Amino acid sequence: MPPRVTLSFDNGPDPEITPKVLDILARRKILTSFFVVGDKLRDPERHAIVERAFREGHWIGNHTFNHLAPLGVTLDRDAPALEIGRTQTLIGGMSHPDRLFRPFGSGGILDEALLSPSAVDLLCRDGYSCVLWNVVPRDWENPKGWVSQALEQVAAEEWPLVVLHDLPTTAMDQLELFLDGLDAAGATIVQDFPKDCVPIVNGKIVADISAYMPS
Ligand SMILES: [Zn+2]
Repeated sequence: MPPRVTLSFDNGPDPEITPKVLDILARRKILTSFFVVGDKLRDPERHAIVERAFREGHWIGNHTFNHLAPLGVTLDRDAPALEIGRTQTLIGGMSHPDRLFRPFGSGGILDEALLSPSAVDLLCRDGYSCVLWNVVPRDWENPKGWVSQALEQVAAEEWPLVVLHDLPTTAMDQLELFLDGLDAAGATIVQDFPKDCVPIVNGKIVADISAYMPS
């Protein structure tokens, strides 16, 4: 088991699930990141939940506005401004200073559909950091049984950055079981991201991202 593990929660906020996740994290004194969907932030109740996460020390990142089509697939030329810029405006003062952005990867897959040249231009111009991942236990697909897969994937990475989803799939009913498993294995949960997972830092491209764009 690697010594450190980073956790992140995508696709929220959800009015039922996100508060439960926050309760668990607070009780166990764990800090994480929440990559939120802009369209959901327009609802004041959901916005208040993200405010709570921010107040409690979690990092708030941008996970597109619509979460419908990967940026490398959409033909809409305004997609970067709509998906990234509009969500960032809604996050406002809750944003992490590094302006964290996580692209929507269909099925959790890191491939050439992930980004587009125009999206990368916007990320660089506006000083974003692009936060990817290396562990996707597909909790949405297997809400009852994802924990064993997650622990297996975590054990295989030097510094795992795990993507979970605070969505109403019942998967988060197993969150404590996962955290117990990490505890039992002696892993420490840290909030920082492994460098390998952040190919754009404050608007600077620091790794080869050609695999994440249409050729
Ligand atoms: Zn997502």
